[in-house]
This record gives sequence, C-alpha cells and structure tokens, in this order.
Amino acid sequence: MAKLVRELTQLENILERSGSLARSEMLTSIPSAAGSLPIYGTVLGTSDRSAPTFGLVGGVHGLERIGTRVVLAYLHTVIEMLQWDELLSRSLERIRLVFVPIVNPYGILMRRRGNAAGVDLMRNAPPHPDSQGSFFVGGQRLSPHLPWYMGVEGAPMQPEAFALCNFMRREVFGARRAVVVDVHSGYGMDDRVWFPYARTRKPFPDVGSVYALKQLLDTALPNHVYRVEPQARNYTVCGDLWDFLYDEQRAQPGAGVFLPLTLEMGSWRWVKKNPRQLFDRLGGFNPLKPHRLRRTLRRHLTLFDFLRRATASDRAWHGEGDEERRNAAFRLWFAD
Ligand SMILES: [Zn+2]
Repeated sequence: MAKLVRELTQLENILERSGSLARSEMLTSIPSAAGSLPIYGTVLGTSDRSAPTFGLVGGVHGLERIGTRVVLAYLHTVIEMLQWDELLSRSLERIRLVFVPIVNPYGILMRRRGNAAGVDLMRNAPPHPDSQGSFFVGGQRLSPHLPWYMGVEGAPMQPEAFALCNFMRREVFGARRAVVVDVHSGYGMDDRVWFPYARTRKPFPDVGSVYALKQLLDTALPNHVYRVEPQARNYTVCGDLWDFLYDEQRAQPGAGVFLPLTLEMGSWRWVKKNPRQLFDRLGGFNPLKPHRLRRTLRRHLTLFDFLRRATASDRAWHGEGDEERRNAAFRLWFAD
C-alpha cells in the first residue's frame, strides 16, 4: 500500500501530529499496483486567503526524494514549534503557510522522474507561444520512455499537475504577496534559487522584487550558500508549471505578487564526495550517506524561515523603489 512510500508515511505522521493546527486534504489520489497514492495539500495560519502566503512544494520529480524530505523537515519543525512557540503562533494569525510535499508519489514509489504515464510534470503545462525550450532537456514529445517527456500535445494536464495547479489557484492566487518554493535536486555543484521565466531568457515582470529579496538575503544572511539567478540562464523549458501559474495569476484582476521560486540543490557535490553512489538509481539526485542527508535536511531551514518572514514583511521588497531595483536586476542578470 501507500506505506511503501516512506515519505508518505512520514507526511501522514506529521499531519496526524498537527491536529487542528493544519488543514489538510487529499487533492487527488494516483492509482498504482501497490494501492492508491494520495497527494496531500496542507494549509496553516489564517483562513484569510488574501494574507501573505509562503509555500513549499516537493517531490515533483520522483527521483529527487531529497526535495520531499527537505520540505517535510521544515513542515515537521513548524508543527513541533507551533506546540509551544507563541511568536510563531501569533505570526500565523496574519500569514499562511501552504505545503504540497509529495506531488508525484507514483514517481517516488517507482523511482522514476516522471509519473505513471512517463510525463515529466514540470514540462506538462500548455506551452507558452514564447517558449524557446533547450534541446531535449527543455521538453520533448518523442517518447514517454525518455526523460523530459511533455505528454501528448493538446491532452489534458496530468492528474498530479492539475491537482497542484488547482490547489495553487485556490490557496495562493488570492494572496496579496506569495512566495512558493518548489524543491528539486540535480543540476550542478551549488544550491541555486531560480526564478522565472523558465521558458525564455527575457526578464520576468517581478524581477525587481526578486532582486530586492536577494539583497535582503545577502545582508541578513551574509554566509548563505545560494546562487540566486534566472532559471533560463541554465536551460529553458517548455511547459513549465510555474511559468504557467505565474502568468495565470498575474492576469487576474487585482492580482497580488506571486513569486514561484525553485530551490535546485546541487547534487553533483554529493556524487563528487561519494562517486560510488552513481551505481544507485537514486544516487545522482540524493545524498545517500546518513551524515550528508542530515546535513542537507538542516541546511535549508534558515532559507525557508527567511522567506516566510520576508513574505510577511513585504514592504521591504515590494513597492517603493521597484523601478530602481528592476534596473539593478537587469544589470546583474540580463546585461549579457
Ligand atoms: Zn527536478
């Protein structure tokens, strides 16, 4: 049954522990030979959907289990601290936290990147006409047996992607300010924080806000480990879900600011320190040694706390001075 997915059991235990602190629901369930696999969405904090909202998403790519584990580590800590931390409880009276820790439970169960249909969920949105996807890695429609498969052209979205989009529409789109981090692993040696667009190298409209957030991060946490950059600087993607959601949210009347970010944990570092792990199917994407796993699970808690607090105190990164910050952002990221 679902018990075969250790992360799902862990999530269910955390949700049980959360009691009335969290509002959780099954967004959909995915059939598998081992039984049906639920996808959970969880909301904490005020029921006012216009309140500032910070979100974490994980497990979009089934091989990148560490993404889910990092999200669960934060959810665990928040739930435990809410049992006694009065300041945190009070802050949740005016903000919201949303979590979808396991978007692709089938992929996690079967140790594969895509879902049961072989679709890469991060290539499954209707492609924007502007898209200039990198060759192959940016999405392909040749075969579900090859990575980065986008699905059949014109077909409805895959159930996992559809469920995630609907949850975001309902729980995040109405927020005055929202920052959502989707946690992945793989690319490169460094931990990167990517911002839209994924589909094109052109700057996205809220680049000034991301620049301001980066400034806050650099000054408040000067020893942080992150490289903040446009995703498209590395490669471009057709059918990126976050590009799709960003554009949709922004087109709504009276839309607030919605920043979908990706934390791409550099897994090549783990491989470099332990090359033998390449013989394991999960080794290219996850820290396998227990001490390295623990280090990774604590490594990003500070970033998430920083973003949670910054989301709540949005005057520091949005509003007055946006024009100036946009110009600085162009110089930093788009001058070439
Ligand atoms: Zn990924």
